[in-house]
Amino acid sequence: MRDARRMVERFHDAGRKVTPQRVAVVEIICSSTTHPTADMVFADAHRRLRVISQRTVYQVLTDLCDLGEIQCLNIGSGAARFDPNNDRHQHLLCDRCGQLIDIYLDLDGLLDESFEGFRASHADVVLRGTCRTCADDRGARRRAPSRADSH
Ligand SMILES: [Zn+2]
Ligand SMILES: [Zn+2]
Repeated sequence: MRDARRMVERFHDAGRKVTPQRVAVVEIICSSTTHPTADMVFADAHRRLRVISQRTVYQVLTDLCDLGEIQCLNIGSGAARFDPNNDRHQHLLCDRCGQLIDIYLDLDGLLDESFEGFRASHADVVLRGTCRTCADDRGARRRAPSRADSH
């Protein structure tokens, strides 16, 4: 989990005011492990503060990305997802529930290679599939006897 206080200090260092709205968004994003969308962060911030606009939440998230404090992930599945994990890592994406899970793959060997003259500098790998919860759900439904089948 990231240190929310230090992230808030970055606003101060960048010459910006430390407002309750900024603090709330930072605390939410620092304590999240789900790679929330801006709408999810807004819902949470609104529950805490009441007086916060969607626009403010978007702006704080954009500022944090600009400051290099969080990552904005465009994984091609709708809204951008925000990630406080700044360690180099990759993601597993569940096609059913949209859950995004951190994984650490060793891609250094791949990046050292030259592909017909093309030199790779970094890799954003997203492995798509079904998470354990969704796979279990499906299995349970298939095993459950249904009334329609019983006659
Ligand atoms: Zn899932
Ligand atoms: Zn991540």
